[in-house]
Amino acid sequence: MTYDHFKDECGIFAIFGSPDAAVNTALGLHALQHRGQEAAGIVTMDGDIHSAHFADGLVADNFTSSRVVKKLEGSSAIGHVRYSTAGKKNARNFQPIYAELSLGFLALAHNGNLTNAQTLRRRLINKGAIFQSTMDTEVIIHLIALSHKATLHEKIIDAVSQIEGAFSLVIIHKDGIIALRDPHGVRPLSLGKLGDAWVIASETCAFDIIGAKFERDIKHGEMISIDKNSVKSATPFAQHSSKFCIFEYVYFARPDSIVEGKPVYEMRKNIGIELAREIKIDADVIVPVPDSGVPAAIGYALESKIPFELGIIRNHYVGRTFIEPTDKIRHFGVKLKHNANLAVVKGKRVVLVDDSLVRGTTSKKIVQLIRDAGAKEVHMLIACPPTISPCFYGVDTPDKKDLVASHLSCEEIRKMIGADTLSYISIDGLYRAITQSKRNNENAQYCDACFTDQYPIRLTDKVGEEAPLFDK
Ligand code: SF4
Repeated sequence: MTYDHFKDECGIFAIFGSPDAAVNTALGLHALQHRGQEAAGIVTMDGDIHSAHFADGLVADNFTSSRVVKKLEGSSAIGHVRYSTAGKKNARNFQPIYAELSLGFLALAHNGNLTNAQTLRRRLINKGAIFQSTMDTEVIIHLIALSHKATLHEKIIDAVSQIEGAFSLVIIHKDGIIALRDPHGVRPLSLGKLGDAWVIASETCAFDIIGAKFERDIKHGEMISIDKNSVKSATPFAQHSSKFCIFEYVYFARPDSIVEGKPVYEMRKNIGIELAREIKIDADVIVPVPDSGVPAAIGYALESKIPFELGIIRNHYVGRTFIEPTDKIRHFGVKLKHNANLAVVKGKRVVLVDDSLVRGTTSKKIVQLIRDAGAKEVHMLIACPPTISPCFYGVDTPDKKDLVASHLSCEEIRKMIGADTLSYISIDGLYRAITQSKRNNENAQYCDACFTDQYPIRLTDKVGEEAPLFDK
């Protein structure tokens, strides 16, 4: 991961019916760490008794001691790794978020972002609600608490029917676990089995680490309720077409995960193959920008028949101290993390492949790094279309003004980063790589708003309740 990227959102995990619920959850969250590195939390249930542990930083540093694991008793658990997409970084914004409601204890972990959270929050505050955090997710707890429906399931359905945006949720209560995905299924969520225990995770790599078997993806708009008697599936929300985030394939998901039925690694390789079909370059060597550019570079090399080489070596020992979001550190950081492999690039016509180009600051440094190492030519290829619009569905993106492609042409960006050529895969090429057919402009199969500016889910907080829907 280079610094000039959209930031992953959150990862969620749940397990029901395991004697090692806390350990399995910690391991699952560790596998999902790429989805959020700021903080993590686990809530377990042992009958009516709940336990919780939260910490800033990485799962491996905070959830592996026997003291913590012993504290987290019970055979069911939910967990969350966080990068703050909504709500500032502070201790009150830990997840899972929990509360004592009229029907008992309930905790909830959320991956995504609600697009009407501010609107609902204002309404709830006017009714007397007292919020404990600045997270959009807290709105859901209040809506459940205030629902006049009779059962917990009905209250959850009532609450979820009022929220808009992207949400994959896991909920723990005294009798079991509930998992659900928003009606457009923007964020991934899968169901697995570990012996007799049921497991739910943002990505299948969290099943692999604990030896769980992937059962199936949870469908868009589906709610799954697991208790000791049964596993029930329902589709109680308004039905919409799926708008899974296409950027999960480009960058967010781990390459060894299978999301929405497709292996991420294969999709990234396919993107490289499509890129080679669209953009032909006379060059000596294909060099990935590590690590996220690697699969697309392999695909490009396979299709173009130009040798693939590791022309940039990544230093894996850069501490988080250097990964702070300030421009000063960001510029300095590139050299801490990457070095040119002289033996590969000197005197060569080099094609660099990266997964995305957001601000352009990292690309500029990388191009200079390769030039300084004696490359004859440097061509930059980007394995997604220009990112022109921010995400409102659970990904931390710079403001539009900082998305370089929103205000500069490809040629202007090329000059800025100092490459001999700069090319992006087209939106149709990206769709071909993933679906074997081009984008359906009338009803695109995925959310691709950061490339097209066409937001498939109403942005109520931003535009007001009359916000247009691009797709119903
Ligand atoms: S706007 Fe971009 S990052 Fe956000 S959900 Fe849509 S495709 Fe994914």
